[in-house]
Amino acid sequence: MASKKIAIGGISTECSSYSPLYQKESDFTVVRGQELLDLVDFPFADYNLEAQPIFFSKSVPGGPIESQYFSQLKEQFVKELKLIDSLDGILLLMHGAMYVDDIEDPEGEWIASVRKEVGPKCIISVSFDLHGQMTNQIISNIDAFAAFKTAPHIDVKDTYRRSSLMLAKAINEGYRPYVVWSPIPVLVSGEMSSTFVEPCQSIYESLDLYNLESNILDCNLMIGYVWADTKRATASSIVTCTDEKSGAIICKSIANLYWDNRKKLKYGMKSGDIHSALEFCKDDFSIIADSGDNPTAGGVGDRADILKAILEADLKETLIAGIASKSAYDELKKGNQFTIGGTFSGGGPSLILTADSVYFQNQCAIVKVNKTTIVVTKLRRPFHMLKDFNDLKINLRSFQLLIVKSGYLSPDLENLSVPSFMVLSDGAVNQDLSSIPNKQRNRNIYPFQDFCDFTPQASNGKSIVS
Ligand SMILES: [Zn+2]
Repeated sequence: MASKKIAIGGISTECSSYSPLYQKESDFTVVRGQELLDLVDFPFADYNLEAQPIFFSKSVPGGPIESQYFSQLKEQFVKELKLIDSLDGILLLMHGAMYVDDIEDPEGEWIASVRKEVGPKCIISVSFDLHGQMTNQIISNIDAFAAFKTAPHIDVKDTYRRSSLMLAKAINEGYRPYVVWSPIPVLVSGEMSSTFVEPCQSIYESLDLYNLESNILDCNLMIGYVWADTKRATASSIVTCTDEKSGAIICKSIANLYWDNRKKLKYGMKSGDIHSALEFCKDDFSIIADSGDNPTAGGVGDRADILKAILEADLKETLIAGIASKSAYDELKKGNQFTIGGTFSGGGPSLILTADSVYFQNQCAIVKVNKTTIVVTKLRRPFHMLKDFNDLKINLRSFQLLIVKSGYLSPDLENLSVPSFMVLSDGAVNQDLSSIPNKQRNRNIYPFQDFCDFTPQASNGKSIVS
């Protein structure tokens, strides 16, 4: 039997509408060819499917994507898709939290363009981040949906596997799945909805039980993305099924489950201001997360508020990893004086400092100022993995306090099992939701408004399924 053909590709980033730093072409890396097939890592050939990689663009989360660049990239994707004849399916790797100034639903536009190109028969299966937004435009153009079920995300590959498997089975067994969704008027940060902390731990475990129900293929709960002030921002439940009515029942159950637990959504770690953090982290080796400027959530990553407080306190050997500043990096190449803080327009104090010592590694300047070591990065980037420190020849054991720009701790840092504290700092991903502008989001949405009447409805993207 001649093998059937699928294409693979997509775009993934998270965009804070509160960040002044626009994402452009140079912020994205593009994965193509064998590298893209390796990323998805699914044995399509075993299902008699020939997989044709297009491209997958991704960036460190940041501000809005420049509109012209987004449109150009979308057109390029469709152009390359057009070169592949008679596609039976397509696997789209998306995130769901893009923000483009003049496009309300960028993922929806992308997927609608793909649908227009491949026609109504082609099976479109998608993979999303659970911090993505959903819309009728997305749902009405797809046939199968799977999103991460862990945050922090440790099931990225497994999510690719789930959406690939639904695609492979639908093509080989000749059926067309359905996708139904229910918006849920709740919108909190990832830090309030970690799947390793209650109530989300139990809610996400229950998704596996819902998957066992008849006619159900894959159940999902989307937390949504809180730092984009946009009409489509919402949590949602999404079910891939072989029968819309069965899917709608489960979808509404998941929506009710999340809604009923909304008031239990809390940070999974100690939190407060920097002074409380320093008090809490007085004794043992500890980690402080500077959450408002976390680049993996869309923060700029250039703010020096915490550095300022640390230098003023001058308590103990501290490592700050890192602060993004190309200009400070360039200054340090020439001498010991440098200015740091807000140099990518992220705001906060600007400090003029003198380095006691400095060395360079992997586009970072590792600078010592009194008892504080600062990693000045030429590019915006996180330090969430132990490898990030090893690569810079930094021994964490020689410090008493580590400060990272992060929300909840990454699995690597969490596994150190040391006292940790999340500082609710200023920045483009400020955790104080009551202080962020809220002009576009739907009324009502918890916690921006507190209300108790909610009855979920399930939709296939075109009409209500009852
Ligand atoms: Zn995410």
